[in-house]
This record gives sequence, C-alpha cells and structure tokens, in this order.
Amino acid sequence: MTKKLVSRFINVGERTNVTGSAMFKRLILDGDYETALDVARQQVESGAQVIDINMDEAMLDSVAAMRKFCNLIASEPDISRVPIMLDSSKWEVIEAGLKCVQGKAIVNSISMKEGEAPFLEYAKKLKRYGAAVVVMAFDEDGQAETREEKFRICKRAYELLVGELDFPPQDIIFDPNIFAVATGIEEHNNYAVAFIDAIKDIKKYLPHAKISGGLSNVSFSFRGNNPVREAMHSVFLYYAVQAGMDMAIVNAGQLGVYDDIPLELRDAVEDVILNRRDDATERLLDLAPKYRGDGIAVEAETQEWRGWEVTKRLEYALIKGITQFIEEDTEQARLHFDRPLQVIEGPLMDGMNVVGDLFGEGKMFLPQVVKSARVMKQAVAYLNPYIEEEKEEGSTNGKILMATVKGDVHDIGKNIVGVVLQCNNYEVIDLGVMVPCQKIIDTAIAEKVDIIGLSGLITPSLDEMVHVAKELTRQGLDLPLLIGGATTSKAHTAVKINEHYEHPVVYVPNASRSVSVVSNLLSKDLRVPFLQQLEKDYERVVIQHHRKRSSTQYISFEQARANKFKVDWDAYQPPKPKKLGIHEWHDISIKTLREYIDWTPYFLTWQLSGKYPSILKHEVVGEQAQKVFDDANEMLDRFEKTGELKAKAVFGLFPANSIDESIEVYSNDESGKDKQTQLVLHQLRQQLKTRNSSPNYCLSDFVAPKETGLDDYIGAFAVTAGFGADELAEQFLAEHDDYNNIMVKTIADRLAEALAEYLHQQVRKEYWGYAADETLPNDDLIREKYQGIRPAPGYPACPEHTEKSKLWQLLDVEKRIGMNLTESYAMWPGASVSGWYFSHPDSKYFAVSKIDKEQAQRYADLKGWDERTAELWLGPNL
Ligand code: SAH
Repeated sequence: MTKKLVSRFINVGERTNVTGSAMFKRLILDGDYETALDVARQQVESGAQVIDINMDEAMLDSVAAMRKFCNLIASEPDISRVPIMLDSSKWEVIEAGLKCVQGKAIVNSISMKEGEAPFLEYAKKLKRYGAAVVVMAFDEDGQAETREEKFRICKRAYELLVGELDFPPQDIIFDPNIFAVATGIEEHNNYAVAFIDAIKDIKKYLPHAKISGGLSNVSFSFRGNNPVREAMHSVFLYYAVQAGMDMAIVNAGQLGVYDDIPLELRDAVEDVILNRRDDATERLLDLAPKYRGDGIAVEAETQEWRGWEVTKRLEYALIKGITQFIEEDTEQARLHFDRPLQVIEGPLMDGMNVVGDLFGEGKMFLPQVVKSARVMKQAVAYLNPYIEEEKEEGSTNGKILMATVKGDVHDIGKNIVGVVLQCNNYEVIDLGVMVPCQKIIDTAIAEKVDIIGLSGLITPSLDEMVHVAKELTRQGLDLPLLIGGATTSKAHTAVKINEHYEHPVVYVPNASRSVSVVSNLLSKDLRVPFLQQLEKDYERVVIQHHRKRSSTQYISFEQARANKFKVDWDAYQPPKPKKLGIHEWHDISIKTLREYIDWTPYFLTWQLSGKYPSILKHEVVGEQAQKVFDDANEMLDRFEKTGELKAKAVFGLFPANSIDESIEVYSNDESGKDKQTQLVLHQLRQQLKTRNSSPNYCLSDFVAPKETGLDDYIGAFAVTAGFGADELAEQFLAEHDDYNNIMVKTIADRLAEALAEYLHQQVRKEYWGYAADETLPNDDLIREKYQGIRPAPGYPACPEHTEKSKLWQLLDVEKRIGMNLTESYAMWPGASVSGWYFSHPDSKYFAVSKIDKEQAQRYADLKGWDERTAELWLGPNL
C-alpha cells in the first residue's frame, strides 16, 4: 500500500466482542473485567483506532455488561483516547453504551431489514445522541449480495437519512456486507468484487458517506490457516482501500503488509479476491497447506505433548480429538514401524481402546468420542494408500451393515451408532437412507457382514422393519438384526418384529449400548447367555404388552363422540385472518432463526441431558456441553456468512369448518352455503376411557362446526432448513469428519424447528393476527405459552401420516419450495416440519392413542382404503 492510503484508513479493533472472541466472552462471563480491559488496551496498542464492543450473549445481562465495560474504559486514558463502536442488535444495549461513552460514539448497526419506519425511528434517536452510525446493506428482502443491490440499498438508506432526518452524511458509515469467498459455491466467487465495486458507486454518488466492513468474513473458508487468512485480508484491503474504503473491523495487530506476502501466495489470493479465474478457489486450496505452518497458534498446553515420542502423540491426539498434526504424526509413525498396518493396530487402536473404555465408564462423552473417531479416520485415510500397496488386510472385530429403511430419510442416530462402532474397531458398511429391503439383503450377503442394523425415525418405518425381518426369513438369512431409531422400542421389537425372524433381533436404545450388544452377539462365549437373557426379557415384554392391551378400556365410538370437547360456539367469534391465502418465504435469514432455537434437544442428540442454558454450567457434562454448544455456534456463524444452508417456508390460512371428525377447507371466503370445499381433512378421536370426565378430544373439536354458521379458519405450513445440508454433510464425510457430518444435520434440524416456531409467531402476530400484541421471550415460545397449536401429521394428535399429502396439495408445497414426500410420507429434506394451525384459545396437544376397529373402519371408509392399507397406516393405533 502507498503511504497515503495507509494513513487515511482506520482500523477498528474486533477482539472486544463476545460473539467473535471466545476468550473475551469467557472473561466477561467470569466477571474478569480487569483482563477484559487488557484486551481493549492491546487492541489500541497494536494500532486499533476505534474499538468495537459487543456484549450480545444469551447468558449475559448485556445492558449491565455494556454499561460496566464502557464506564471502566472511560477511566483508562490509554484506551479511551480512541472512539468506541457500540455493537449490538438491541437498542437497550446501545443506549446503555451511549449514556456512558464520552465523546462521539459509533453505533453498529442499523438497517432497513424491518422496513423504513423502524429504521428512521432508530436513526432519529441516534441523531439526538450525536452518534455516527453503521448502516448495513440489508432491507426487507435480505442482505445485498451484488454490486447493484448493495448500491441500491445504500442509496435508499442515504436518501431517507439525509432527506428525511437531515442526518449528517459524514456520520453515515455503510457496511455493504463482506461475505466469504472461496467457499466452493460458485455464486460466492464474486462477493469480494461486488463489495469493492459497490464502494466506488457509494463514494461517487453518496457524498461524505463512509465505508466499513467486517474483514475476517472474507477469509472464513480458510479457518485454521492464519497465514492464508491474513494474506486474504491484506489483499482485500489493498483493493478496497484504493476503491475508497474508510475503515474495517479487523484483528488489529494481525494485519499483514501487502508487499510482504510471498508472491506465489499473493497471486493465488488475488485470483480469488478479484475472481480472476474459474479455478481460483482450487488453486488457493492446493497452495494453502504449504503456508499453514508458522501461523498456527500453538497453545502452551499443546506444546508439551508435541515433544513426546510419536506413538504417545498419536494416542494423545486421539483422546483429545486433535486433528491438527495427525498427518505429520501418522507419517512419522509409519516410518517408525515396519508395516503401515502396525500403526493402526498399535498406537491408533491403543488410543481408541482408551477412548472406548472412558466412554464405557461414563468418563468421556459422545461428542468427544465422535471427535476421536475423526482423528482415527483421518489417520487411517492417510495410511490407506500404503496399506493397499502392500495388500495387507487388517483385522476388525466384525463387519456391520447399517441402513435407514426405505421411505425414511433420518440418519443422525444411525450415523452416531456407526461412528461409535468404528471407534471400537468394527467395520461399518453404511448404506445411507431410504434403502430398499433387497439392497440390504444383497449387500449383507455379498459383503459377508456379521450383523445388520436397521434404523428409522417415523412410524411407517416400523412396518418396513417388519417387512425386512420377513424377507430375511424368506431368503434364508441367519444374521442378527439390530433395531434402532426414534419410534422403535423394545416393545415393538419384541412384539412385532421378533416373531418374524427366528434369529436374534435386538433393540438398541442408544449409541453407547450398541457396542456391548454387538460384542456380545459376536463373542463365542457371551453370545448364548446374552441371547437367553434377551429371550427372557422379550417374553416379559410381550406378556406385559398383552396384559396392558386387555386391560385397556375403550368406550364406543358413539360414546367418545358424545364426550367430545365442547366449545360454547354461541359465545365465540373465530378471528378472521388478516392475510388469507398462501404465502411463501425464501432465503430466510439464519441470523433471525438462530434466536429461536430450542437448544435442549440439541444436547440430547449428543447424549448430554439437561436443560439449556443451565446444562452449560452442569457439574458433570457442563464442559462438554459448552464445547458442542460453541461448535454449533461456529457452524451457525458459518451458515450465516456462506449461505450454504437454505431455509424456506410456505404457509396458508383458509376458511374452514368442522363436520364431526372432519375439517372442510374452503377455497373461497364466502359465508353460508356458498363455501366451496377444496379439501377435507380427516382426524381421529380419542377413544380410551378418560378420567375425571375429561373429554375425548379430536382436532376437529377446535374448529367451528359447519352447522353453527360461523366462519372459522385453519392454517397449514411446511418449512425446511435442510436445502444444502446433505451436500455439506457428504463433503464432511469425504473429509473423514464425522463430527461435522453429524453436526450439520443436527443444526439443520434445530433450524427447521426454530423456523416452525418463528413462522408460527409471525402467523399469530401478523398473518392471522389474533395475537398482534404478543411479546413472549423464546423460553415462553418453547413452553408453548401462546394461543393456538401447530399439530404435525404423524404426531400424537394426528398420528396418521398420509394426511400430509393434503397439506402438500393445499399449499402446492413441492412446486413452491421444493420440499417433497417419500413413499412413507417422510419429508425431504430431512430437516423439515409441517403441520396445521389451530387458533382456538382452548386448542391443545393430546395423544389420540389407541382406537377400536369401529373407528378404524369408519376412517378407512372415509379415506377409501382397503384393509391392508388401513392396517399399515392405523396399525400403530389399533
Ligand atoms: N421446540 C421443540 C419442539 C419440538 S416438538 C424443538 O425444537 O424440538 C413440538 C412440535 O411437535 C409442536 O410444535 C407440534 O408441531 C408437534 N407436536 C407436539 N406434540 C404434538 C401432538 N400431541 N400432536 C401433534 N403434534 C404435536
């Protein structure tokens, strides 16, 4: 850079940010403000001319933290000589800061995301405080990506601020969004160019406005390789500053000098930043490892073990789950042994055995085990070419085939079991999802496996598992069968599957149990006693099942109907939706969705039980919980920046009335006789004898019966956050990274549920509008403290899956947003949620539970089903 450019450019220190720096977050959460101040001081000493302060953290009283930190800074002359950038998405936090900061503050940031009115209101307050403001290039339709969008949004903001509020233009700082490049997604290649070009437009047409941006985003795909990241930052700034960029949020002290970058690296980086050639990303990826070495921050703790002998280092890396040095250590070990296989059978297996033992003893948790597996797999992948050269065959404890059955797309649990088994030296052949029965059988025979494991999440998969068992019998196989997945159970395995296959059928409740089950089944000595015990266990379960069944007290269908849930319809006026009809949302912001995540189930996936957020402080699992939580947030940050995961929604509000257990959905909004029936939904009614004269519920009870003459309504929705998840998960798998493979899917699931929550809120407040004034925090949303429900077909209040096809038809789901249904009515992408909206204040979730043959027959008649179909879909309820 030339001197002139350097002197005009301002760097904003980024380290005093709880969302961007794990260390700073720790300090603030621990109340160690003294050390936190040192972070600010270091930033100033390393050249920051402004410091960005962010206290947006769920576990923190952000207002108090901002106030305290700003006040402390004010009394430190060596820090307070630079201006403060107050960074928060919450006005209270910004205002707390504004009240403490001396001199002119900068507020980061505002945007037209929610429209013009809130934008202007916010800006007006800032003007009164005399603050400068960062304006993101973000409007009602999302974040600007192209040069044109960036300029258009900035211009619109500028005209509003200067035109309507007389906001001083020199106090407007635009942030036209720095996004990650070289992500592997073609559309991202031009992000840096778009930014740099937009600067030129803004500088030319919007006088006095300044330009800023978060620099580290641009190099996000090279996380872990600081030299390359720094080179990208220097190159980006070199061009952006020439174009007129005034400031950037950076890690002050880590800014390299453009001229000092090795030429070869600089060229490759420039190709990427300036989008100069199609293969720029691949070329930089190829070059990157060469420059990684010196930039890696080696922590004090890690240094010590790096001095150990190589077999010990491998063991340590396995137990700690550190992949950083795995290739170089594996290479050293390979040279150290006579044969490459000895590396696996020696130090690697020794390390894994320790991991297995610690996990078995409950001293290590699932996420750690999965991280260990990642180290193991990467080492094995490194050795494989050498092993093949020598044509050696390793010995494993056994070969296991795993598959999610036909019609089902869920595989998180199966993948976890696969990893845990591999950690215990079993070879796993994973056939993936939606695997037809014959493929399972053919592969089992061809590969000479020792055990077959079936997995499934939705109820129709139970029936498919029965089918597989029958086929195994018919085709004369004798391999043990493992059964697992969310709707499977010991009872179902014992009662429904076991009887069709005379060889072992074992229900596996979770990943940690899979190892002992498999090792028992494959052990000469333990197999027989294990199976005898299993047999006894199943006998007991079957007897219990039949006993419970015969003592179940039904009432007749007529009685159940007479005991329906009664609403006083004369005294009730159903709310009319403000926006009837169908609505679509595309490109929903991950940033918005993550605020709505219910984290507790996330920890359960990792077999860490406890409620969020207290689980993070839990005596036993707290530390691991915090780690998987941090990793999840890192991945969410990534999704926010790269757009790899796409979330979409379609939903609709329709006139409707009930007739007995059915709900008629109308295509027009006429009153009385002119209603045109578009579709009829069929619901099931509870038939078990209830206690305390509680009603026998049916979902139709919550919709005004047609005979009341009332105009009532129903909603339908289908949402997904899963577009892109499969591809990304595959990518991780190809890199032998099971941890992130599982993480991607788990996070996508969380985001889909969060989207269902967010959408429901927007429907209540805006589209249907019956709860316009609702202001519930996320906690209360999770606890369902709002009016209305969103029952999902396949769940207890409407357990029958085929009704989803009506939802698809009604909303034209596939055409509008590309979600579809498998032959078992599982939704694709896997990370999806769909259901109905009911608005009645008394509507609530319940379980239909068991029904009798009479209701089943009635229902089958309504649906036009034959006996076999009825058995298939209603079986679990009969
Ligand atoms: N916050 C949780 C929500 C999971 S389950 C999470 O993020 O995982 C909650 C959803 O399941 C409800 O919103 C509803 O759509 C569905 N559901 C729960 N109980 C139900 C029932 N008895 N009948 C029908 N749907 C039900």
